[in-house]
Amino acid sequence: MPELPEVTTTVNGLNEVLSKLTIKDVWSDYFLRTKNKRKDTIKNKKYFEKFKNEIVGEKFKNAERRGKNVLIHLSGNKTILIHMKMTGHLLYGKYVWENNSWTSKEEFLSDPFNKFVHLIFTLSNGKHLAFSDMRKFAKVIIFETDKRHDVIDLTGLGPEPIPDLSLDLFKNQILKKPAGKIKTVLMDQSIIAGIGNIYSDEILWAANVHPERISSSLNNKELKNMWKATKEILVSSIKMGGDSMSDYRNIYGQKGNFQNSHKAYRRAKENCLKKGCEGIITRKIIGGRSSHFCNIHQK
Ligand SMILES: [Zn+2]
Repeated sequence: MPELPEVTTTVNGLNEVLSKLTIKDVWSDYFLRTKNKRKDTIKNKKYFEKFKNEIVGEKFKNAERRGKNVLIHLSGNKTILIHMKMTGHLLYGKYVWENNSWTSKEEFLSDPFNKFVHLIFTLSNGKHLAFSDMRKFAKVIIFETDKRHDVIDLTGLGPEPIPDLSLDLFKNQILKKPAGKIKTVLMDQSIIAGIGNIYSDEILWAANVHPERISSSLNNKELKNMWKATKEILVSSIKMGGDSMSDYRNIYGQKGNFQNSHKAYRRAKENCLKKGCEGIITRKIIGGRSSHFCNIHQK
């Protein structure tokens, strides 16, 4: 699932290309091909019709990330919220409707992971903003920009870990779940926004903390190491264009590179890469999610 660095990479891309373009049309088949037709998302046909009416003719202003959500602000006091969930990612380029699907001949957009287009915006420059989502779990809604403080998808989010989350606030947030296992707490969006399975594994590996440690047992030094690792790892992944071990691609359809720097995530049975450590990376299900950690230096 795209986490903070991937969503940031997408948002930066949107800001490069969308500014001042107008939405000419929008198409989706989510409401035809999805089982869970939630009334308050575009997976419901009526909602999609309303969505279409509201956005066609509006101009892109800018895009923003909040937690793992992409917010696309339009003229007319309108904001589109996209949560990419497991396999969703936004793509920009020239598409054509061919053999009952949207396809692109552009080199990177024709990557097999980019072919599951279930939502597409036609833009005033003749190009498209497409949304590929193989598993169709994504959420797309619209709201009035000045009412963002009432949007439930945003109100429950904890603070952003970068750029300026203080050590004190980081500690306070973690200790809001004193009895929780730290891996689960780090991924809790109400505690700190934007961290998921990949980055929680990497942060705990770098901070020498075992994922099953109970929050309240962490000492100041461990919390400080986690705080530092959180910032460093997220920033470094953004510089690499995010993580494309799974489906994620940037808006041009290209892979990021963070998957080549994993120290823990999906390295089960491999040697630990920490200098002087002779541990082996172990995989264990913690809080319903697979966790990867070193059996020696993470305590
Ligand atoms: Zn180790």
